[in-house]
Amino acid sequence: MIKIIIATSNPHKIEEMNKINTNKNIVFDVVKGDFNPDENGTTFIENAAIKAKEAAKIMQTYCLADDSGLCVDALEGNPGIHSARYADTQKEKIEKLLNELKMVPYDYRTAHFTCAMVLVDKNGNEIHKEEGKVFGYIDDLPKGTNGFGYDPIFFIPEYEKTIAELPEEIKNEISHRSNALRPMIKWIEENLL
Ligand code: IMP
Repeated sequence: MIKIIIATSNPHKIEEMNKINTNKNIVFDVVKGDFNPDENGTTFIENAAIKAKEAAKIMQTYCLADDSGLCVDALEGNPGIHSARYADTQKEKIEKLLNELKMVPYDYRTAHFTCAMVLVDKNGNEIHKEEGKVFGYIDDLPKGTNGFGYDPIFFIPEYEKTIAELPEEIKNEISHRSNALRPMIKWIEENLL
């Protein structure tokens, strides 16, 4: 059995990661106390590494961090690594994004979510990295109540629904987080168990 600390204070990410992980010998726990490291990297991977290393300093064991965000092609990949700080509230973030895209027709509203994951050992050494994506379009209005963040405006053509309209089992099958975490779990099984 291995216990891995998830370096985030976002309860939605922990919940999703616990549902994606079906290996009972890999147990995720949360980082203790207030966890808010300065995410001053220039890429998702750099920010994930900052968070994982900071968590290892506190917890002195294996730590796994997720840095994720929404990249919109018509906005040159923004909000990208700034997704969490794009506006004050999530409602305002969505309004700001929809406003910036209001003249952009559907075919040009392509976007993807990216999730970078970095696993460090108890000394903060990076031991494995993965990156996962999911591709879709930015809808013109928020729809659905599942998930979190930008899920209500992220439209998946295969399902003709936003992620927030999909059952959580489907999000957890197709999401950027799942596309990063599943190979990360496989690596942990092969190398640490
Ligand atoms: P982080 O905590 O710095 O990784 O910020 C990630 C931000 O990207 C979140 O606050 C959300 O706004 C957005 N985000 C990341 N993953 C998702 C997701 O699965 N659904 C919707 N929004 C997400």
